[in-house]
Amino acid sequence: MSLKVYMDGKLVDKDKAMVSVFDHGFLYGDGVFEGIRSYNCLVFKLREHIERLYESAHSIMIKVELTQGQMVNAVINTLKKNKLKDAYIRLIVSRGVGDLGLDPRKCKKSSVIIITDKIVLYPEQLYENGMKIITVPTVRNLTEALNPKIKSLNYLNNIMAKIEAVNSGYEEAIMLNSLGYVAECTGDNIFFIKKGKLYTPSQSMGILRGITRDVVLELAKKQKIFVNEESVTRHEIFNADEVFLTGTAAEIIPVVSVDGRLIGSGKPGKITHLLMREFKKVTQKEGTRYKI
Ligand code: PMP
Repeated sequence: MSLKVYMDGKLVDKDKAMVSVFDHGFLYGDGVFEGIRSYNCLVFKLREHIERLYESAHSIMIKVELTQGQMVNAVINTLKKNKLKDAYIRLIVSRGVGDLGLDPRKCKKSSVIIITDKIVLYPEQLYENGMKIITVPTVRNLTEALNPKIKSLNYLNNIMAKIEAVNSGYEEAIMLNSLGYVAECTGDNIFFIKKGKLYTPSQSMGILRGITRDVVLELAKKQKIFVNEESVTRHEIFNADEVFLTGTAAEIIPVVSVDGRLIGSGKPGKITHLLMREFKKVTQKEGTRYKI
């Protein structure tokens, strides 16, 4: 059976799941999206992802044609139809079909697409040995220009940074904000540990408020680890005992080198390992359950 894609209420064969060239999501990146995961028939933090999607849509004045409850059902039904136990779920809301002008009023109806598929992970060896990352020249979008809290279909800011990372032989990169403070990575949030305390750039640094980031902050508090959201410079990162990144796809991934500076002992650290274990536990027991 071929994979089915949810498109505005219909489940369409993967090969036939096409959007119009006049869709403003395609023409202008005018839309919003989410990346979600399910683990053994449990969708992790589904409500939180859907809430963030609707907040992004509200901010750019897209009316989503489904209620949040209907969106939950649509995600679950698509997963069931595709018989996926462990999945990566991509929710997309685009402005819809208009004409060649960018005026959003031309798009009469927004469009909802749900793609569920197997997930592609970073190689296991990166989790064991840690990742090496660099800082790239492309600055994270200015909050005043395009707030990084909006998870919009226009990801060129991050793609430019990713290109710079890849050109230099790295998989991930730190993006600074316009003031030179550490913001986040191209598709992940960043944390560091110093003397047993956990730090991460605050939301005011111009970042996407990662759902995994929120989970990790909660897990750390439960473990009685002191957490601090503040302004972070590269100096603090270079001199950290441990560094790791968080994201729905990456989960928690240790970082062992930043801009050629070895982090701590150059191996994934103890607190990172503890949080990785705790994270695995919550993904195995919490979530929106479905049966296939
Ligand atoms: N920052 C950016 C720029 C991202 O694209 C992502 C991935 N969606 C994240 C952080 C991590 O967010 P989350 O934990 O919600 O996946």
